[in-house]
Amino acid sequence: MKTVDVLYTCEIDPEITSESPDSFREKIQSTLSDSRGWVKYGYNFVYVQSRPDKSVLKIILVSGDKAKNKCGSRLGGFSCYSPDENNIYMNLNNWMGGSASTLPLDRYRTYAINHEVGHRLGLGHPSETDCSNSEFCNANKGAPGSVMIQMTRGPDWVRPCVENEWPLDPSVYNELKENPRLSNTYTVSFPSVTGGGNNYDVNIVVALLILMIVLLMAIIDPIVSFVKETIAKQSKK
Ligand SMILES: [Zn+2]
Repeated sequence: MKTVDVLYTCEIDPEITSESPDSFREKIQSTLSDSRGWVKYGYNFVYVQSRPDKSVLKIILVSGDKAKNKCGSRLGGFSCYSPDENNIYMNLNNWMGGSASTLPLDRYRTYAINHEVGHRLGLGHPSETDCSNSEFCNANKGAPGSVMIQMTRGPDWVRPCVENEWPLDPSVYNELKENPRLSNTYTVSFPSVTGGGNNYDVNIVVALLILMIVLLMAIIDPIVSFVKETIAKQSKK
C-alpha cells in the first residue's frame, strides 16, 4: 500500500499553564502513530518541530473562549479544524473532560485527535443533523460508530452505534469512502485502501468475467454448429 505523508507540529497556547507542552505532544504523537489510527488507511504522520509554511498541520491546545472565537459560536463547545489556516484548535474544556462524551478521558482525547485529523484529511461528519440515521449504525446496532461522528455530543448522538475513538477498520466501514469530503485549502491525497463502502471486490469481478466467457462459449458453440450444418445442407441441395 502506498503511504501518504502528513507533516504536523503541535503547541500549547501561551495563556495555558495547566498543561505541559511535552505531555500534549506525546499524546498527539502516540495517537497519530498508533496502528489502530489513520495509519491503517495509509497515512504516515511526521512530527516536525517548526512550521516552514502552512502546508504543515498545526495542532494547538487553546482555551474554551479562544476555541469559540476560532471555531465559530455554533461550535463554541467543541474543538475544530480550520481548513484555511491548516490548524486544529483543541478546546481545553473538552480536553480536560468537559463534554457530554462518556468515554474515559484518555480515550476521549484519542477520539478528539483522530476526529479533527480526519477533518484535516478532508472528511466531514457522516450526518450533520442526526447520526442515528446513519445507514451503517442502523444496520450494525451497538457497533462502534465512525470516528467522524461528533462524540463530544455524547452517547445519544452516536446511538444506535456506541462511542469510539479510532477510525473504523476499512473492511467494516471505510471512513474515506463513506464520509462526505470537505474542501480544504491544504489538501492531502487519499491513499488507495480497499474494503467497505461500495467497493467491488476485484476477485468477484474477475470470477464473474470468467463465468460470462464460459457461458458465452457454451451458447456460441451450438449456434456455430447449427450454422455450419445449415450451410452444409444448403450446398448439398
Ligand atoms: Zn467534526
